[in-house]
Amino acid sequence: MSTKAVIVVDMLNDFVTGKLKVDRAQRVIPNIKRLVEAARAIHIPVIYVNDAHYPQDLEVTRKWGEHAIKGTKGAEIIPELKPVESDYVLEKRTYSGFYETGLDPLLRSLYKGKGVKTLVLCGLHTHICIRHTAADAFFRGYSIVIVKDGVEAFTDEDHEQGLKYLKQVYGAKILTTAEVIAGFC
Ligand code: ZN
Repeated sequence: MSTKAVIVVDMLNDFVTGKLKVDRAQRVIPNIKRLVEAARAIHIPVIYVNDAHYPQDLEVTRKWGEHAIKGTKGAEIIPELKPVESDYVLEKRTYSGFYETGLDPLLRSLYKGKGVKTLVLCGLHTHICIRHTAADAFFRGYSIVIVKDGVEAFTDEDHEQGLKYLKQVYGAKILTTAEVIAGFC
């Protein structure tokens, strides 16, 4: 049994169709859908980590303005990727899916306590929340797979530079959705 988990980052209304929308996000939706369905079919855990901000969060006040405010429609997962009962859904208040979210203890508890070894990261944005989540995964010893057609950013440059950095600095494997699914077993 593989000890992977699929981590879906910030596939929320505000990032796809709302306050910080980016049309480029549309193209990853079908790929992420295929990926999470393939994972669920063989009991690979699917974990959503979602911005759920308070208005006073630094990300809101210092940089991006109001987005994904906890409890609003903008902070909800997009309808196309609604989680199912067996999925896990965690809230975050910074770029990293690990920062005070309980993600690390959750990952360690899975596979009957043997823990997850490899994180498959998809979602938004390649150079921001994917990057910071990958950083914290790296520091904690997880192997990292980035789904290159399952992550996006504001521009092509942000996306490409993001991928390059993830590979160069965290030794992330950059694979397509099809390659990741082929590796599920
Ligand atoms: Zn945010």
